[in-house]
Amino acid sequence: MSLNKERLETTIIHASTRGDYEQKTGAVNVPIYLSSTFHQESFDAFGPYDYSRSGNPTRDALEKTIASLEGGSRGLAFASGMAAISATFMLLSSGDHIVVTQDVYGGTYRFVTEVLPKFGIDHTFVDLANVDETARAIRPNTKVIYIETPSNPRLGITDIKAIVELAKLNDCLTFLDNTFMSPLYQRPLDLGVDIVVHSATKFLSGHSDIIAGLAVTKGEELGNRLAFIQNSFGSILGAQDSYALIQGIKTLGARLTQSSESASKIASYLNDHPLVDEVFYPGLASHPGHAIHSKQSTSPGAVLSFRLPNRDAAKAFVENVRIPVFAVSLGGVESILSYPATMSHAAMPKEQREKRGITDGLLRFSVGLEHVDDLIADFDQALIKTSEKVAIPN
Ligand SMILES: *Cc1c(COP(=O)(O)O)cnc(C)c1O
Repeated sequence: MSLNKERLETTIIHASTRGDYEQKTGAVNVPIYLSSTFHQESFDAFGPYDYSRSGNPTRDALEKTIASLEGGSRGLAFASGMAAISATFMLLSSGDHIVVTQDVYGGTYRFVTEVLPKFGIDHTFVDLANVDETARAIRPNTKVIYIETPSNPRLGITDIKAIVELAKLNDCLTFLDNTFMSPLYQRPLDLGVDIVVHSATKFLSGHSDIIAGLAVTKGEELGNRLAFIQNSFGSILGAQDSYALIQGIKTLGARLTQSSESASKIASYLNDHPLVDEVFYPGLASHPGHAIHSKQSTSPGAVLSFRLPNRDAAKAFVENVRIPVFAVSLGGVESILSYPATMSHAAMPKEQREKRGITDGLLRFSVGLEHVDDLIADFDQALIKTSEKVAIPN
């Protein structure tokens, strides 16, 4: 049976349980191999595993799973999304330059601006939606273009194919943070991207229980180089968290399908509400990236953001809404409301934040699995209270 003919929802369920152990025992779940070291049967020919930093069978099952879901040759699991992202940047050398989307995740912004310069790696932030501006930022020593689409928190869309084409013309690699879409909705390696990275803390694990990161390379040679860094740098994902992530991935299809349907309804509801200045969701026809996103992805996903008039309105809304968790992070079974200005983008100076449209009235909403009618009713009562409390200028 060819796995390639299946839909991803089917592959997701079985991808992790086709290893040797499961075939021998019939176990439907991968065992958690809590072993740091492995006995070698022969004096001079070692087995597939020697030490769990270099390789662990549970982590291996996870790494093979994500590689098959993203359509890549090598998957690697890390202790966090930031560890996966940092490891990919370690493929670079002193003197190299990178072009980075200006709408980048706050932690990636911090790594690019405060850690990479110490190793002589320079960067330019650009609006990747503007291909000409991106082309102008490329220098002779530019080695990577770093993409996030949809981006955080304003759901900005980058034309993946156009940027890949530009990168190839200039002998650059492309890295893409696929956290918001997951392989279920967007497969960047199929569009020519070289490495996909994930904060698997979010939709892939789905239960707000673990911190994890994944990277998948398209090519084998790049995969070997990244595996070398994973082993040298050492920020691997442990066996128990690898198991939790494997289990989370199995329900990705069902979770994302429901959450994305709810997100579309909530986006329309907010879009029609007089107190909401702007809604950012690629499923809305009014979203500037709607057409490009629809071309390269199969769903607008389960995250949206919206702008209330000011900080007081955002505060009143958060204080009156009852169902969502008010927290950093996203992609859980519970809806998560967050305030980018002091949460995901706290690492970004206020002036840089505002330049990127992350103003004091902006809220991000990750839609969970609660009934959508309950979520909308909750938003409705909170917005009524918000308008009573805050004098909104006309
Ligand atoms: C959360 C997040 C990260 C960082 O991942 P961690 O697992 O928290 O280290 C990177 N990119 C995006 C888009 C994220 O949402």
